[in-house]
Amino acid sequence: MLSFLEITDGFIKLSKQPHKEAFEQWVELPNHVKLRQLDCGVLQVLPAQPTNEALVISCGIHGNETAPIEIVSHQISQIVLGSIIPKVNVLYILGNPESMNISQRFVELNMNRLFAGAYKNYDLSEATAYEIKRAERLESLVSDFYLSFNDEQRIHLDLHTAIKPSYHKTFAIRPYDGKRITKSSKKLLLAAGIEAVLQHNKPSTTFSYYTNHVFNAESYTLELGKVKPFGENNAADFALAVQCLDALVQAKDLAQFDVSNLVEYKVVAEIIRNTDDFKFYVSENVENFTAFPQGSLIAEDIDYNYRVAFAEEAVVFPNINVPNGQRVAVMVTKVNRD
Ligand SMILES: [Zn+2]
Repeated sequence: MLSFLEITDGFIKLSKQPHKEAFEQWVELPNHVKLRQLDCGVLQVLPAQPTNEALVISCGIHGNETAPIEIVSHQISQIVLGSIIPKVNVLYILGNPESMNISQRFVELNMNRLFAGAYKNYDLSEATAYEIKRAERLESLVSDFYLSFNDEQRIHLDLHTAIKPSYHKTFAIRPYDGKRITKSSKKLLLAAGIEAVLQHNKPSTTFSYYTNHVFNAESYTLELGKVKPFGENNAADFALAVQCLDALVQAKDLAQFDVSNLVEYKVVAEIIRNTDDFKFYVSENVENFTAFPQGSLIAEDIDYNYRVAFAEEAVVFPNINVPNGQRVAVMVTKVNRD
């Protein structure tokens, strides 16, 4: 296993291999850091000095989001070579290796809709089996990991890149937990190069919602930039995210930023397609966080229309190609500073 992981893209190559039970044995590095592979694309790292701090770094829940996969693979190779010495327990997850192998976002089901037990709501078939079983397996591995350390300091960063262009090049989605974001959380996001945070207003079925809801982890979905094929990502675009992950793993201080720089949004509405007569008046190609003034007609369906209610609302994740009953877009407003 180590012979794979010594090279920069070793974790990517290892995740393309069938899982071997032999990889589940702990392997000790000369600096007494230990590693084991728990399943395909899932690697646990134990620091030399025991600690209860538990960090989950996941990537590739959407298999074509290559930059986060490259970042994680590079960090793992630096650990194996001894140039990064982890001081916290880390669980690295490459979420959907099969979709990575076919350069697709997913094989059959969007895995970031399958967590918090939502995989149980889908019909198990030959086509859906991989992602349903994978989501269940990842929940179980994350659960074993967090519960093996008695600690309140659990962090989960789920790293993504987006297909759509975005007014904010980087942003975080903070799962609904009924609480407001703290100053130290804002500092963490800024240190990771995040420009804006979007506070979700209700429970969801994302990986970060699951870890926050079940384990009280400080969890975020981080959108770090644009989707590009392997080898075409510009390292400079991700420099702050890499620096932040390196600091977290080594329990070092984070780069400091003025917390007022983080732009905060909250969800005010979801646009749902109810019937075949649904009409959406936002262009498909609009950037995420494009703002519309009060009164703008956003969508119409048989029995309702949606106009911007606040002085300004921005549209996020517009996608008209969804079945009836599903979400076409999220409407957000900036949170007033207090
Ligand atoms: Zn994604």
